[in-house]
Amino acid sequence: MGSIMALGVNSPPPALTHGKPKRRIFIAGVNVETTFERIDMCGCEFPLLPEGTLITRPPSFQLDNEISTAEWTQWGKDELLSESTLCFDCVTEHPDPRTGEKARFMLRMALHVDEDRNGTAQFVVEALRKEARVYAQDLAMFQGNHVPIHYGLWVAKTSWGETAICSILEHAGFPFQLQGKYDTQERRDAFGALITDLHHRGISHRQLGKPHGARHLLWDAKQDRPRVIDFKLACIQHDCIRCLPLSRYDSAPLHYIRCSELIQVGRYLELFGTRCVDDDAEVQKAVVLLKDYEQKNGEKRGYAKEDALDFQRTWIQRQQHQLGGPGG
Ligand SMILES: [Zn+2]
Repeated sequence: MGSIMALGVNSPPPALTHGKPKRRIFIAGVNVETTFERIDMCGCEFPLLPEGTLITRPPSFQLDNEISTAEWTQWGKDELLSESTLCFDCVTEHPDPRTGEKARFMLRMALHVDEDRNGTAQFVVEALRKEARVYAQDLAMFQGNHVPIHYGLWVAKTSWGETAICSILEHAGFPFQLQGKYDTQERRDAFGALITDLHHRGISHRQLGKPHGARHLLWDAKQDRPRVIDFKLACIQHDCIRCLPLSRYDSAPLHYIRCSELIQVGRYLELFGTRCVDDDAEVQKAVVLLKDYEQKNGEKRGYAKEDALDFQRTWIQRQQHQLGGPGG
């Protein structure tokens, strides 16, 4: 078996020293508690995990929800796990005395990470590390609202899956399916606003089209809000070329939205109507507003294109709120 020191490619390896946060996790199908220790990641801070032993439910595959007990209790010995992670829904053993409720989390776990099976385990761990870094450094302001809280990466030597590394995130809800349990027009609109917020901050998710969209757009019924997960492939320097925010329109103003991810999400959520863009007064007015703002302020010191887009977006939101949405 190789060393855990082999994990990091571009970053310092996760050293196993004393004094790091530890957490006992009782994993379904394993008869003993496993103690995980948080991995230090240079330049990243993670919030403290709420107290208490975590207890998981049986896992699902990240890339495929269907997984039989016979498969997952192999714990990766059959190489089924080499390119995926096991996802565990879990709760704290005892309720939080303040809320009376058990805190709920999602664990994504890679097993046998010391073994070099064509480098795939390292590839999976690198993806988990990259994502943890994006959460800590680029999504900090969205944690707990647009995206779940990330509690860092944790490592354990186990008797059942050799060295296991997992990310621990706040549980963020369930897949948002069109015509599904949570689907309403307002909620689709809320996703459009959320994705526009991410692009406003230079973050493009890059896995929101079909067939990934449904898996990564979640509805959090508890907080009654949309949330997005899985930022493994995210671009954090997205220079958005949109001239309109992603929103519900009577027409399909793709020529003005321009940004391929916004168009993709808008199509997935069916936010676009059938009216001719030239006849869509709201879109035409919004485009003129943006141009006017740019003309008036473009030369000023400190001008940023995102300020102009924000001004335009506020107008559209006010407009749609007053009219009860396009067509209202
Ligand atoms: Zn964009």
